[in-house]
Amino acid sequence: MPTVFLQVAIPTPLRRRFDYLPPVDMPLEQVALLRPGTLLRLPFGHQEVVGVLLSLHQEASVAANQLRHALGVIDELPAFMPDVLALCLWAADYYQSPVGEALHTALPALLRQGEMARLRTEPIYHLTTAGKGLPAGSLKRAPRQAALLAALQDTPYLTRADLQILDIPTTTIKPLMKKGLVACSEQVLTPESTQTTLREQPLILNPEQAEVLEKINLDQFQVSLLDGATGSGKTEIYLQAIARTLAQGKQALVLIPEIGLTPQTLQRFQRRFAVPVVALHSGLNDRERLDAWVQAREGIARVVIGTRSAIFTPLKEPGIIIVDEEHDNSFKQQDGFRYSARDLAVMRASQLKIPLLLGSATPALESLNNAQQGRYQYLRLTRRAGSAVPPSIQLLDIRAQPLHEGFAQDTLKAIALEIQARHQVLIFINRRGYAPTLQCHDCGWLANCNHCDARMTVHQQPRHLHCHHCDHQRPLPSRCPSCHSHQLQPLGQGTERSEEALRQLFPQTRILRVDRDSTRGKHAMHRLLDEVQSGEPCILVGTQMLAKGHHFPLVTLVVIIDADAGLFSADFRGPERMGQLLLQVAGRAGRADKPGTVILQSHHTEHPLVQTLMLQGYHALAELLLHERRITQLPPYRHLALLRAESKRPELAVEFLRLARAQAEQWQPSSHHFSYLGPLPAMMEKRGDRFRYQLQFNSAQRKPLQQLLAQLTAQLENEALGKRVRWSIDVDPQEMN
Ligand code: ADP
Ligand code: ZN
Ligand code: ZN
Repeated sequence: MPTVFLQVAIPTPLRRRFDYLPPVDMPLEQVALLRPGTLLRLPFGHQEVVGVLLSLHQEASVAANQLRHALGVIDELPAFMPDVLALCLWAADYYQSPVGEALHTALPALLRQGEMARLRTEPIYHLTTAGKGLPAGSLKRAPRQAALLAALQDTPYLTRADLQILDIPTTTIKPLMKKGLVACSEQVLTPESTQTTLREQPLILNPEQAEVLEKINLDQFQVSLLDGATGSGKTEIYLQAIARTLAQGKQALVLIPEIGLTPQTLQRFQRRFAVPVVALHSGLNDRERLDAWVQAREGIARVVIGTRSAIFTPLKEPGIIIVDEEHDNSFKQQDGFRYSARDLAVMRASQLKIPLLLGSATPALESLNNAQQGRYQYLRLTRRAGSAVPPSIQLLDIRAQPLHEGFAQDTLKAIALEIQARHQVLIFINRRGYAPTLQCHDCGWLANCNHCDARMTVHQQPRHLHCHHCDHQRPLPSRCPSCHSHQLQPLGQGTERSEEALRQLFPQTRILRVDRDSTRGKHAMHRLLDEVQSGEPCILVGTQMLAKGHHFPLVTLVVIIDADAGLFSADFRGPERMGQLLLQVAGRAGRADKPGTVILQSHHTEHPLVQTLMLQGYHALAELLLHERRITQLPPYRHLALLRAESKRPELAVEFLRLARAQAEQWQPSSHHFSYLGPLPAMMEKRGDRFRYQLQFNSAQRKPLQQLLAQLTAQLENEALGKRVRWSIDVDPQEMN
C-alpha cells in the first residue's frame, strides 16, 4: 500500500479538493519529489482531466481502496510557481470560487489541455561573413535593405519581434538572404545579459514628474495611486520606473484594460526598451500566448504587458507591477472565477514585496478612499506634460426639445460645422450596463422611489417600476405625474438608431462604427485607426470602447448623447462611471492647434452631480459621491457580495434565494453592521430564457462576510434546489445587474 496521497484541484464547479493515489508505475521516492503546482492527468468520472497538485499527504479523506490512481505527471516542472499558486488559492477563497476553476482560469489554454510549457526555437536573423564585410553605405538603391543591414550591424541578431518593432517586413530579408548577406538560424532564446536596457532616450521629466518618480520605492511593497489627467505624463512615469526596474535586473508586469492594448501602446513600450517586451493580448493564438507565458517564466521577456488574466503570469525576477486605467471595469472578470485583477495585483505585489503602481485620470472611488486612508501612497500629476489643451465642455439642456434619434438641433448644427471644417467628430453612445429608469422628456421628471433617494427601474415582465435599493414596487404611470405629458421614456433607449440617423443626415461623410463587433479580429481595430489617422473628416460612433487607450488628435468635437442614463442609473456606480467616461472620452480628443469641445446632452443640467462634474471636475464629483456612499452605506465604506440565481422558472430562483437568506440570517442576523437585500429581480430580469434574481449582502467588515459566504456556499452546494437553478457568488461586484 502506498503511504502518500495526492491532493489535487480539478476544474469542476464543486468546491472541494480531491484525493488520488500516485500513478501506478511511479516509485515512491519520485512521488515524494513532486511539487505543489504540478499538472497531472487524472481520471474523473468517465473523463480524463488535467488537475493541479496541491499537496502530498499521509492521510486521505476516503479509504485508499476507494481512491483512483493518477494517470501520469504532465510535467515535473510545476506549471504554477509558488507565488502564483499561493495567489490563486487565496483568490479562490476570497472570491468563493471552486479552487479548480480558479487555477484553470490562471493557466494558458494549451497547458489546460495537457501540453508542456517549454521554450521553442525561434528564427533568428544575423549577418554572414560577407554581410559583415560589406562597406558602409552599400545598397543605397534599396533603402529598406540598407536599414536592415544597419540594424544588424548594431546587434548580434534580430528576432521576428525585433523586425516588427523596426517595421521591417519579411520581404526585405529574402533578397538579402539570397545575396548571402543575411542568414537565419533556429535557436532557443536565452535571457540576455545586456547592459543596455534602453533603445531610445527617456524624456526629461518635468519637476512634478521627477518628484513622483522619486517617491516610487523599488525595494519594498508599496501601493501608489498615480492620479493624473490624460496627457499629464503617467505613461512616461511607468516607462521610467520600468527602466529602473530593468536596470536592477528585474522584470515588469503591466496590466491594461481589455481595449487599451493598442498597437500604439505596445509600440511605445517596445520602442523604449532594448529588452524583450511581450504582450498577452486577444489577437494572440493559443500557441503564441503560451510562448509569451514561458518567456516570462524563464526571464527572457523582461516587460510583460497584458489584460486582466496577465496578473497570473509567472515571472522569474518580478520587480514591479503597474495597472494602467486602474478604474476600468474590465479588470473584473464577470463570469466564472469572478476576480478583480487590480485587487489581486495588490495581493501579488505584497507577497512578492515589490511596488505596485495604480494609474488613472479618474481613479475608482475605492482607490481614492484607500489613498485618503493612507493605505496607498497618493501621487498626483496636475499639469499636462505634452502640448495638448484640455477640451471645453458644454452642457446642453434638451428638455422638451425636438430630438432627432437622440440628437438635439444644436448638436446636429455643431456636428455639421466641424465636418464642413474637415474635422473629425466622435459620438459617444452610452448603452452598456445601464438599466432604464423612467423619465419625462418634457420636464425631466424621474421615477423616484418614495422610500429612498433612488430612481426606480423599468421592468417589462410584468410591467412595473422596481426600486433596487429597497425593493419597493409600483405600476408604470401612463402620464408624467409632474406635467401630465405623455412623453415618458425609459432612459438610455432611443440611441440604437442614432448611427442610422447620422448616415441619413450626413450622406457624404464617412461614419465609422467602433464597438466590440466592428473591431473583432486581429486587424480590424488597426484598419479602423489607420482610417482615422488618415485625417479625412469622419464621424466615429461608438460605445465605451472609444473611451480607452486611443488618441484621436483630429477629433475636435465629442458628443455624449445621453448623460442621464449614467447619472440616474439604478446601479449605484452609475454616476461614478459616467464621470469617468466623460473625462476619459474628453481626454481623447483635440490637440494644441485644434482644441476640442465636448457636448453633453442632458435633461438635468442643474443637477448637483452634473454641475459639480462640469464646474469642478472629476475629483469634486468623487468627493460628493464618496460622501453619498458613506451615508447610504455602500462601498468603499461597506463590503458587498451578490448571490445570483437564474432559472427558466422564476419561482425556483426566488425560492432558492429565500432559502439562502433564511439560512444566512440564522448564522449572521441582520443588524446595523450586516444587512440583506432581496431576493430582487436583476435589472435585466430576463436574459435568454432565464429569469434572474439576486440577493445582496452588505457588511461593515470584510471578515464576517467572508465567513458567512464560505459557510453558505458549502451549504448551498448540498441543497437540492441548488441543482435546479444556476447560481453564483460575486464578491465585490462591479456591476449590480
Ligand atoms: P498619460 O499617460 O498621462 O496620458 P503620457 O505619458 O502619454 O501621459 O504623456 C502625454 C504626452 O506628453 C505624450 O506625447 C508624451 O510623450 C508627452 N510627455 C510626457 N512627459 C513628457 C516630458 N517630461 N517632456 C515632454 N513631453 C512629455
Ligand atoms: Zn413631465
Ligand atoms: Zn427605494
